Amino acid sequence: MRALIYKSTGSWYIARGEDGQLYNARVKGSFKVEGLTSTNPIAVGDEVNLNPEDEADNVATITDIHDRRNYIARTSPHNKNKHHIVASNIDQTLLFATLKDPKTSQGFLDRFLVSAEAYHVPAILVFNKSDLFRKKEQELYDELWNMYTAIGYTVLKISLKQGEGIEELKTLLQDKTTLVSGHSGVGKSTFINHLFPDMELKTQEVSGWSGKGLHTTTYAEMFDLPFNGKIIDTPGIREFGLVDISRQELSHYFPEMRALLNNCQFNNCQHINEPGCAVKAAVESGEIAESRFFSYYNILESIDAKSY
Ligand code: GDP
Ligand code: ZN
Repeated sequence: MRALIYKSTGSWYIARGEDGQLYNARVKGSFKVEGLTSTNPIAVGDEVNLNPEDEADNVATITDIHDRRNYIARTSPHNKNKHHIVASNIDQTLLFATLKDPKTSQGFLDRFLVSAEAYHVPAILVFNKSDLFRKKEQELYDELWNMYTAIGYTVLKISLKQGEGIEELKTLLQDKTTLVSGHSGVGKSTFINHLFPDMELKTQEVSGWSGKGLHTTTYAEMFDLPFNGKIIDTPGIREFGLVDISRQELSHYFPEMRALLNNCQFNNCQHINEPGCAVKAAVESGEIAESRFFSYYNILESIDAKSY
């Protein structure tokens, strides 16, 4: 039977079968997923085949995993050289940010956007707590809105406290599987709770489940929205790694730079001091925002020069 993974806590998973039932699922024996050295063979969002074992406890064995459309990974908390797949088969990511209490830095936003680009997952930027905006924050928001929408990202402001922008945001979630991310304190849990006014709809416990194999690392969990769509919460996961991104390819993940790369004189240009650099020229003419170039430069510096 085909099933979808909703939750993972180590060696046990919660899966929803195509019969609509929730199962306590596990992998038996070793399980190799092609081309990946991840510490977790199965992730939230995976489509799998299940073989029911024990009717009473809804226990089932995962026998097979279907090809992933995409996935988002980070460096494994247990092994720096391995990946941990956070979630797979995602339509979009929703990055929660704030301009006040706390202020999310542009550096953090840009690192996140680079990860999303690298995994080919569209990103939506949501600035919450618009009720706290005064002139300064509103001006900054307008500036960021202009900059990021020109690059191609969807940007909106909301106030969970006052209800501003929430209907528009819900429309963006309709019929999609959306992974929610952001620093703590920006309102992610408030938002997820808001989406489930009836908390009973959110709880997905299976008989026999007692957090089997639960360990202390953070994990992702998927929920069916009361309207059509799914949301993946990633409590405690602050950042997705810039897994395997080399200095050479970094500018490919800045869409406004990607468009210019063929115009640089050197095809391995890193856009620092090279002559005939189209990216630097675009920064000088104002076509590329200086703040974005600053983020590019900082990320470049953080990538070990020997890592490619
Ligand atoms: P999380 O850490 O991202 O899950 O953030 P929380 O949902 O726990 O929210 C952090 C704090 O921000 C809480 O005190 C919320 O009540 C508050 N908060 C959430 N949304 C808003 C908002 O729209 N406006 C204001 N002023 N506070 C908010
Ligand atoms: Zn260049």
